[in-house]
Amino acid sequence: MYGNIVIISGPSGCGKSSLISEILKEEKNIYFSLSSTTRNIREGEKEGVNYFYISKEQFEEEIKEGLFLEWAQVHGNYYGTSLKPIYQALQERKLVILDIDVQGHEIVKKKFEKILTSVFVTTPTKKELQNRLIHRGTDNESTIQTRLKNAQIEMNRIDEYDYLVINDDFHTALSQLHSIIKAARLKPSQEDIKQFIAKW
Ligand code: 5GP
Repeated sequence: MYGNIVIISGPSGCGKSSLISEILKEEKNIYFSLSSTTRNIREGEKEGVNYFYISKEQFEEEIKEGLFLEWAQVHGNYYGTSLKPIYQALQERKLVILDIDVQGHEIVKKKFEKILTSVFVTTPTKKELQNRLIHRGTDNESTIQTRLKNAQIEMNRIDEYDYLVINDDFHTALSQLHSIIKAARLKPSQEDIKQFIAKW
């Protein structure tokens, strides 16, 4: 493997997707991994743009076939990262960005520790996360409560990450993310090291 991986985790509603979409506009040579999910499509989302929306049966079939690099159940739905496109992007020396939860991070970290950089993005306070979820207007009260509970569980695992970005001011958070990505690209892979030593 040659490329690098950046995992971006953080509670639903913390602004991860907006930050990632700016990063994708501004950074070159990036592959953003599109996950598959069994959750319902939200208003404003598009098949093949935000996720691949598949049935529970299809998801379980793909698990059996070993098609996922990692998968997890989040808020009662399946979410998973397909293996093949990740390997291909890494072979092409791309920077792979994964927007996955803490469970997915744990699995990918074991497989790709040397080329992995991880970032946890969150709001300055729990109250602020609640406000953003309410204003987003895509979830009902009980879904918001599930997401807040899950957020607390995820927050307790921040120490497993390399970086913490607090998304208070969007532009500051974005600029921090750019710096992290710059540094992530500098992590040499085993192959890079071998080739460099051989030439040196
Ligand atoms: P949402 O339903 O708000 O789009 O996403 C809920 C959570 O699932 C987010 O924390 C997101 O990072 C996580 N997630 C999205 N795709 C994947 C995936 O492929 N694998 C894992 N483990 N988590 C994912």
